[in-house]
Amino acid sequence: MKYVFKNAMILTMNNGDILKSCDVFVENGVISALGSLNTEQLQGAKIIDASGKLMMPGLINGHCHVPMTLLRNYADDMNLQTWLFDHIFPVEERLQGEDIYYGSLLGIMEMIASGTTCFIDMYDHMNELAQAVEESGIRAQLSRGMINTGDGPDFSADARLNETIDFYKRWNGAANGRITGAFAPHAIYTCSPAYINAILEEAQKYGAPIHVHLDETLVEHEDCLKKYGKTPTEHLYDLGVFGQKTVAAHCVWITEEDIKILADNKVTMTHNPSSNLKLASGIAPIPNALKMGVNVALGTDGASSNNNLNMFEEINLAALIHKGVNQDPLLINAMEALKMATVNGATALGMDNLGVIKVGAKADIILIDMDKPHLMPVHNVVSALAYSVQGSDVCLTMVDGEILYDNGEFKTIDREKVSFGIKKCYERLF
Ligand SMILES: [Zn+2]
Repeated sequence: MKYVFKNAMILTMNNGDILKSCDVFVENGVISALGSLNTEQLQGAKIIDASGKLMMPGLINGHCHVPMTLLRNYADDMNLQTWLFDHIFPVEERLQGEDIYYGSLLGIMEMIASGTTCFIDMYDHMNELAQAVEESGIRAQLSRGMINTGDGPDFSADARLNETIDFYKRWNGAANGRITGAFAPHAIYTCSPAYINAILEEAQKYGAPIHVHLDETLVEHEDCLKKYGKTPTEHLYDLGVFGQKTVAAHCVWITEEDIKILADNKVTMTHNPSSNLKLASGIAPIPNALKMGVNVALGTDGASSNNNLNMFEEINLAALIHKGVNQDPLLINAMEALKMATVNGATALGMDNLGVIKVGAKADIILIDMDKPHLMPVHNVVSALAYSVQGSDVCLTMVDGEILYDNGEFKTIDREKVSFGIKKCYERLF
């Protein structure tokens, strides 16, 4: 299918360029021309009138557990250790493939309706999660979260590690390349050094990237110092984890030395402001990390610690909280926050043809309806996106050149089937 967006105003995220009244030609899943198009290009293409709309690259959610939509508003107002060990893990034990499938579709609906076109996820029952991604048309990097139960040192029969390997072999590069895989040791407090070594050995064998939670709470930080005599970041570095392309979620308690390690090893840290605020984990030193050259992406985390998957809310928070806690209004400007949600997410995935509107980039595109009272007048597009736009202002979402969401309508997902499936799962689980 060929598409032409007519008369769009575009925030390209390519050197901050803003294009006015621009036409965008999409063919074979890629942006193949920008500017005024000739009649030949318009022939046979579906024309989308984008006047009055703002176009930007689709948002990249840098850290998520999408099936946790099932646990939305289930356990709130408690600390991370209580939340995770006393409330979340016991329900997760009971989750079945069907729960993951419907929970994922529900989360994907929420994401595409609020401008997210790609997400980086770690969870369980990954075949069902990948099936939801494949059917819905969204893009994702997926990994089976691994928590070790045995002592090792031989983990060759470890169920989770073997599931990870099988999943990677089956799904990496699937769905026209929309799905990629990763290896995910859950965290240093749920994985022993021997287990991390075993995971790493396999990841190296397949050239797979790593997705891990890192230094999320003060408890994790202090326990690690006590147990290993080093910070969680130093611990993973010494184990050799950062030799693989790594996305480290949270990094709330990292030190100046840790930031240097992350920058030197090109580790992406994912900032999850809502989740860190809600679980009172703290506020990650994002301004310093950016200053020292770390690639910082942005994520929602799961819907149980947020409690939504709305990336515009994260952009807004990322642009606000560092100003407030440091009493410095110059920290994390609107463009820096938008970069975290687009190009920096693409860097995390090692894709320079994502998170940007340019010729040759993947056609992962969103349109925002600017004809709203809370968005007028548009003095500054970048400021509007960071400070005024709501996720619900997104009116069209395209991934890989296909329209997934158009003015409230889901093109690839049967809304009623998902509602029915969620209700059924909810009744069995709770
Ligand atoms: Zn997480």
